[in-house]
Amino acid sequence: MKMRVGFGFDVHRLVEGRELWLGGIRIEHTLGLLGHSDADVLIHALCDALLGAAAMRDIGFHFPDTADEYKGIDSKILLRDTVQLVRSKGWKIGNADITVCAERPKLNPHIPAMQQCLSEVMGIDAGDVSIKATTTERLGFTGREEGIAAYAVVLLEKS
Ligand code: MG
Repeated sequence: MKMRVGFGFDVHRLVEGRELWLGGIRIEHTLGLLGHSDADVLIHALCDALLGAAAMRDIGFHFPDTADEYKGIDSKILLRDTVQLVRSKGWKIGNADITVCAERPKLNPHIPAMQQCLSEVMGIDAGDVSIKATTTERLGFTGREEGIAAYAVVLLEKS
């Protein structure tokens, strides 16, 4: 069995007048993430981890943020297409572990819904998708609520 680990990282700015989408679900908040797509920073980090494990470049390479077809796109579509890309190379997803850094809103109540949503999009068990939330103790851009950061690690397997 061949195994590959991949890592992904992403940041989006928090602004007024945008919906907050994280882990494929909409979360009620006074601010939302700014981006060409729905700016779901958690999914973007996850896509980069998947692509990284397969040595298939990054999310911006496959889905450029200058392309009209991706303007305002639901990031679940990008995740679905990314999973198809890595599966097309014979890879099977082992598990994913994701950490989101946000001062607010409190994400813990939303984590089961995110796990359910992402596992359905990826076609894997919810138990193979771990999502963790942390603050940065009011330090840095996430602590000042200027943005949200996400880190993801993925294991791919091929027999
Ligand atoms: Mg992004």
